[in-house]
Amino acid sequence: MMGVVAEEMQAWVVERPGPIDGAPLRKVRRPVPEPGPGEVLVEVEGCGICRTDLHLCEGDLPPKHPGVIPGHQAVGTVVSRGRATNHSTTTDRTTNSTTNHSAAANADGTDTRDSTASGDHSTTTANRTAIGDSAAITDRTAVAGRAASGYSTSGYSGRGDHSGSADHTASAGSGDRTGSSGSGGCSVSADRDGAGRFGVGDRVGIAWLRGTCGVCEFCRRGVENLCARSAYTGWDADGGFAEYAVVPEDFAYALPTDRPAIELAPFLCAGIIGYRSLLRANLPPGGRLGIYGFGSSAHLTAQLATAQGAELFVMTRGEQNRVLARALGAVFVGETADRPPVPLDSAIVFAPAGDVVPYALEAVRPGGTVAVAGIHLSDVPALNYERHLFHERDLRSVTSNTRRDGEELFRLIERLDVSAHTTAVPFGAVDRALADVAHGRASGSLVALR
Ligand SMILES: [Zn+2]
Ligand SMILES: [Zn+2]
Repeated sequence: MMGVVAEEMQAWVVERPGPIDGAPLRKVRRPVPEPGPGEVLVEVEGCGICRTDLHLCEGDLPPKHPGVIPGHQAVGTVVSRGRATNHSTTTDRTTNSTTNHSAAANADGTDTRDSTASGDHSTTTANRTAIGDSAAITDRTAVAGRAASGYSTSGYSGRGDHSGSADHTASAGSGDRTGSSGSGGCSVSADRDGAGRFGVGDRVGIAWLRGTCGVCEFCRRGVENLCARSAYTGWDADGGFAEYAVVPEDFAYALPTDRPAIELAPFLCAGIIGYRSLLRANLPPGGRLGIYGFGSSAHLTAQLATAQGAELFVMTRGEQNRVLARALGAVFVGETADRPPVPLDSAIVFAPAGDVVPYALEAVRPGGTVAVAGIHLSDVPALNYERHLFHERDLRSVTSNTRRDGEELFRLIERLDVSAHTTAVPFGAVDRALADVAHGRASGSLVALR
């Protein structure tokens, strides 16, 4: 419990990268890590499972450290802090560290920089209440109730445990927003020891991006996702498939305390990357969005788009993915190679398969955009200029995300009716869950819970 940190913990490590069916992961006991300066130690409640974890286990992303702990969608509570950082130094180093929240707020056209410059977390809370749609808070409570009743929390079976789908259908667009004031989602703790951003007891999220240089042209230009010295959770440093994890506090997200970890975890990568993909896809208001592949990130992105008026077209393999797509309001659902009945404004390729790209390019209208969301894609076949690119169709990649993307997303989901379709995975079954992702047996988002 709070204040008592174990010395040892259970963790999954990538022992020998290779095919997931060859058991590249092993569950081990490790010493609980010590937070360094500017870092916090987080007791993990749950950690979402991402295809990128699979790429790390299988060696598609070359290992940077032997025995690394994957997992980069961790929700937990701060249990100890490293030495407080000299925050002004940190701020210099990163364009939006202390001003993280204010940077995000500015994207809404609300200038909050002055009020948040202190890095005072309670000030941040006020901002979020002011910016967000406070009515969404009661909606969140409703969402929590659904999850408690809909999802199995024991006996992970992988296939077939999709009772949440029906729940989701019922809840989508229920519009149960009755208005309320509230915290706006930032947890605030009075228990502070130092000048840092988070205190013991604060609820935080650990995401994929965990470090940038802060001084290169990309960092200074607001595209820190392109920083050559960026660092990633579960790749450059140990991640969240463990009982405890350390995170640089400038890269952690303040999370609400009133939503279960299983609901929040998928947003920490699947949601954030999906949100950035949506931005990169250049979807016009009310436009037609095609989504290729319908896994964890795609099903959240689809909701972000439709909640803002987009028309959704989903091309994916696997009947359970198509069922989920229909439940989430897709007006057309087909196989990967199926041509949508009307030209699309934008498309996002979530499937890690390069051979999907030409289909997506052919499906968009002149001037349309195709964004490739994945960190890893098999080779794109030869493209025909006339058929696939001419008429100013754009093909764009999506590379990681900025913290601003994440802050914007967490504000958006307070306002929009967006929730993850989740399946709980017992901590001991992380390896099996990754195999399910590899073999297309997973639907929605899988979250490992302790
Ligand atoms: Zn940089
Ligand atoms: Zn991820």
